[in-house]
Amino acid sequence: MLQTTGLGVKGAGVTGLEVRGLHVRYRVPAGLGRKPSYVDAVNGADLSVAAGSSLGVVGESGCGKSSLARAICGIGPITSGSVSVGGVELTRRRDRAAARRVQMVFQDPTSSLNPRRTIGSMLRELLTVHGLRTGAAVDRRAAELLELVGLPASALGDRPHAFSGGQRQRIGIARALALEPEVLMADEAVSALDVSTQAVVVDLLHTLRAELGLSLVFISHDLGVVRAVCDSVAVMYLGTIVEQGPTEMLFESPRHPYTRALLDAVPRIDVVRPPGSARLSGEPPSPLDVPTGCPFHPRCPVAVARCRTEQPVPVEIDGQTVSCHLWPHGS
Ligand code: SF4
Repeated sequence: MLQTTGLGVKGAGVTGLEVRGLHVRYRVPAGLGRKPSYVDAVNGADLSVAAGSSLGVVGESGCGKSSLARAICGIGPITSGSVSVGGVELTRRRDRAAARRVQMVFQDPTSSLNPRRTIGSMLRELLTVHGLRTGAAVDRRAAELLELVGLPASALGDRPHAFSGGQRQRIGIARALALEPEVLMADEAVSALDVSTQAVVVDLLHTLRAELGLSLVFISHDLGVVRAVCDSVAVMYLGTIVEQGPTEMLFESPRHPYTRALLDAVPRIDVVRPPGSARLSGEPPSPLDVPTGCPFHPRCPVAVARCRTEQPVPVEIDGQTVSCHLWPHGS
């Protein structure tokens, strides 16, 4: 049973995270026989996650999911665009109070915890440095945070090596919650865990989101987990969000050929694939050499001539947004 002491349900019904036209561009230094160039890791992302809701971001490795997450959290560069939380614009002025609004749960909890320090000292330091508690309330709050993630307060005196991988990830979540964020960013937060532990940690994130009114951004290559946890989904390909919409709608009626291919690549014992179903072939092109027109055209089974020269613009259809020349007039 989760306890929400000290945090309460914040911001329910309020707009949580708003991302508008976010670009992340990296300079790639000159290499052997290669001039310096640029990679557009995130290409004009637009996202909204209401308080108490969850968004899954999916796509193959290197599609820009982590660059997007790091930019939103303020630990990666933003070339242009805006990030707002609870109506407060964070892009240009991210002081300590603003930075607390978005917190990250990292993929590898082991490397993100100092092995020489007790869990209690880490939590207490966060609470005091950020001025969130003073005096005896610091210890009380540290104990509450551990209980919030399902660990006993007695564990405050232990160091990270005393815990299993799943427990360390719970500690990572407690550490993120210590700063009382409005947005929790989970970047492949369960992919290093075994399957049964994944389910427990996913369930914890799901429950915390609802009970604390957090906006949860869940970045994952695991479509099954995203379907179980998220209210809406954004699909990324080569830095661009090619489709987004409510989870069940997107899983039941994917419109973009890349989304269809991603879903088709998930093994299902209850489904016999019809001949010619949209399998993903080949590797994504290098981000250093993005194809002209629609970036998916070299792999797209239904590409038409204009796909090679014209970049599709997003269109909204029945609550889903899709960037493909076949819509709104296509199949
Ligand atoms: Fe395929 Fe063309 Fe649509 Fe791109 S725009 S996904 S290449 S049909």
